[in-house]
Amino acid sequence: MTRASILRLHDALLREYGNLGWWPADDPFEIAVGAVLTQNTSWRNVERAIARLKKEGNLCPSRILELDASELESLVRPSGYFRQKARYLKELARYVERELNGDISLMSSKPMDKVRTDLLALRGIGPETADSIMLYALHMPSFVVDAYTLRLLRRMGIRHERSYGAVKTAFEEALEGDVSTLANAHAMIVIHCKTVCRAEPVCGICPLANTCSEAKEKKEGVANQRS
Ligand code: SF4
Repeated sequence: MTRASILRLHDALLREYGNLGWWPADDPFEIAVGAVLTQNTSWRNVERAIARLKKEGNLCPSRILELDASELESLVRPSGYFRQKARYLKELARYVERELNGDISLMSSKPMDKVRTDLLALRGIGPETADSIMLYALHMPSFVVDAYTLRLLRRMGIRHERSYGAVKTAFEEALEGDVSTLANAHAMIVIHCKTVCRAEPVCGICPLANTCSEAKEKKEGVANQRS
């Protein structure tokens, strides 16, 4: 994956989507909670769970710790895997309360490697969740690589390394470690893959079709059938 191929992809997405202003949330802890809840579910379900947490003022580390496990499970139920996610939120809240005096944003003053290691040590936080928290809640230049990113790169014919870390580094270097640019790049990829480059891609309306391998192959397939 070359710097030029990432920049071409980024610029084409930017022309179409502009600045999406992600991540929609009132504070950094809400972003971290959203990053945990969004695992294996749609954002609509996360919004429902977050609204339930907010309603009674439960969207802060101290309140999450005070809630009974069953109460918290019930509140985050709309996000699916609610027992597991309630346990993950308890662990995150315990960490923030004990190590950061209740303020997750204090993590942003630590070195990035340390922050990532600390987040990954928490149950339920894998690379994608850790990078979402770092990028959107802590404003650190840590690109989020998700299944959408890998699918889009494959379809576009942009060859890339197999490892999560290599793809992440390639984006971070190409986009020069700029937090806003990295944040918007991930947002644009997610939106594009949810609306156009879906499981069944809608290549006919895609702004990337001119430079996409999959679209080219489809076109050639149709031409061959006609001849
Ligand atoms: S042209 Fe089709 S396969 Fe390629 S990025 Fe667009 S929607 Fe996806």
